[in-house]
Amino acid sequence: MTLIDPHTHSAYSDGTDTPSQLMEKAGAAGISVLGLTDHDVTVGWDEASKMVSKTGVSLLRGMEMSCSWKGITVHLLSYLHNPDDPALLESSRKVLQSRENRAQIMVERISADYPITWEDVLEVANADAKVIGRPHIADALIRAGSFKTRAEAFEFVLHPRGPYYHFLWSEDPVEAVQKVRNAGGVPIIAHPRARKRQKLLPDGALFDMIDAGLAGIEVNHRDNAPEDQEYLRQIAREAGLLITGSSDYHGLGKPNQLAEYTTAPEVLEEIEWQGTLPIITP
Ligand code: AMP
Ligand code: FE
Ligand code: FE
Ligand code: ZN
Repeated sequence: MTLIDPHTHSAYSDGTDTPSQLMEKAGAAGISVLGLTDHDVTVGWDEASKMVSKTGVSLLRGMEMSCSWKGITVHLLSYLHNPDDPALLESSRKVLQSRENRAQIMVERISADYPITWEDVLEVANADAKVIGRPHIADALIRAGSFKTRAEAFEFVLHPRGPYYHFLWSEDPVEAVQKVRNAGGVPIIAHPRARKRQKLLPDGALFDMIDAGLAGIEVNHRDNAPEDQEYLRQIAREAGLLITGSSDYHGLGKPNQLAEYTTAPEVLEEIEWQGTLPIITP
């Protein structure tokens, strides 16, 4: 059995493991190929690639781009793109800047009702974190004793419908698909039916992404309800798109377990074939 888990996060974004720990855990879980896909950054690639021979786990280099369509968050996985592509770098730079502004605004609002400060958020974010997100605010709330888990903090404080929420500027998903393709990457939409998180992206917007060159849909993911998975599978089949599955592992930050969903070897082969970089093998 070849276990392929193409979507996970390290502490460079909002996971809790270093890339090295992540590769070690992947090895222990019997995973053959691990995708490291931090939000908006590729800084973890080097460290993870150094662990390939030690752990025997092959590395699929990726990034999960933050995008938004009329205020609805869309996550676009980009695989095997050129990490020095100027347009993608510029788009990352802009979204990191807007993440920081937005997080500060939210913390200011939250601090009226809960005992946390911006300094607390920076402290709980791993020193390595290049990406400040709501999960780090959740961790500060947990440390302050206000909540027990990130999930609770999201439900009561950080949810988009809550009073503290502030919109995050990020790339338009159609433009993001084009930029990923121009950078030689393979664009796959992540968990498109994560109903609990927010309003769903309308089908029309998904079809626009498909027209722009989307390569695949992450169908098998715990946040897509089973009936939605069936529907997404049908869309993917009709449009000739790849179907992937992943854990979206975040370490201690989420209940998701490594390889709880996986991707078929022939799909991975097609991703590698379409991408500019190779998968790093032991
Ligand atoms: P942000 O990027 O700051 O908008 O925050 C979104 C991130 O928060 C997602 O990438 C998830 O990793 C995380 N997230 C969303 N909902 C939850 C939840 N209920 N529990 C834990 N983490 C969550
Ligand atoms: Fe995340
Ligand atoms: Fe995501
Ligand atoms: Zn993710």
